[in-house]
Amino acid sequence: MDRFSRRQALVSAASAAGVALIGCRTDPAPVRPTGPTESSDDTRRSGASGARQVEKIIDAMPTRDGAGVKLSRAIGGRALSMLDPFLLLDEFHSDDPNDYAAGFPSHPHRGFETVTYMLEGAMEHRDSVGNAGRLRPGSAQWMTAGRGIVHSEMPKQERGLMWGFQLWVNLPRARKMIEPRYQDIAPDRIPELDRDGARVRVVAGNAFGTTGPITGIDVDPLFLDVTVTRGVRFETPIASEHNAFAFVTDGAVRLGPSRAEVRAGQLAVLGRGDRVLATCDATSGRMVLIAGRPIGEPVARGGPFVMNTEDEIRQAWEDYRSGRLVGGV
Ligand code: FE
Repeated sequence: MDRFSRRQALVSAASAAGVALIGCRTDPAPVRPTGPTESSDDTRRSGASGARQVEKIIDAMPTRDGAGVKLSRAIGGRALSMLDPFLLLDEFHSDDPNDYAAGFPSHPHRGFETVTYMLEGAMEHRDSVGNAGRLRPGSAQWMTAGRGIVHSEMPKQERGLMWGFQLWVNLPRARKMIEPRYQDIAPDRIPELDRDGARVRVVAGNAFGTTGPITGIDVDPLFLDVTVTRGVRFETPIASEHNAFAFVTDGAVRLGPSRAEVRAGQLAVLGRGDRVLATCDATSGRMVLIAGRPIGEPVARGGPFVMNTEDEIRQAWEDYRSGRLVGGV
């Protein structure tokens, strides 16, 4: 059995066992077309100047996905179905191998991008385009599924802490069927700076004149990993028309002029403005700060596929079943 057939078999086996693959409710039925959502409202897009206030705080909710990996879902759940262009944010954080060992066996995607950012542990990515990459602490992978890809994301450790994130980023209608693309960024390629006591890793976009290594992404993302300690004030410009959120991974951070406290495991949706302000009066706080240009198009979700219409979701399932999702016509 060649590599691809093995992956197909894994997916079939997972489906037969009723196992949900990552974000992949294997039942094709739950297609949920939604208009431009709460995420693209006019207030956040009006381009006002000033530091962004916290508009909403979401507690990440426990769930399981992949072949049973324990996760906390901050975007893509009931409290925040999406924040255009961001479709999903999952954190995995456990030192119990039973929570992560099953990993995310082969599964398809079409119509959007998956981003994995590792804080601790090791995972391996393999896909139908021939890419393979090892995720280790501090590394990032930005996979543009485009017209179709089948991939697996499996732990490469048997014990110890596994900690990281997966973010799903939508593609605009005109770009959903582009060829797949894969950016595998080793930890030492991500610039790390100290700014007034804050430690900032620039994964994508620009901060303090430093540009991150992820390039050519449609929504022009900003992706920063920021650590602040007691008494530090962190402030950075942000495109006023972009939607933005901060997810606190450790400790607590105070965000915006009103200094709203956001604790580990919480996501803050940021309101309008052209700057982000963070302070800290805990021992320390760490957050990922992520922003992107809203797409403002209808969204139809069907498990591992994110398109504009239900018909396009049905087509994706049909293409997957008939083998045309990857490399076919
Ligand atoms: Fe995936």
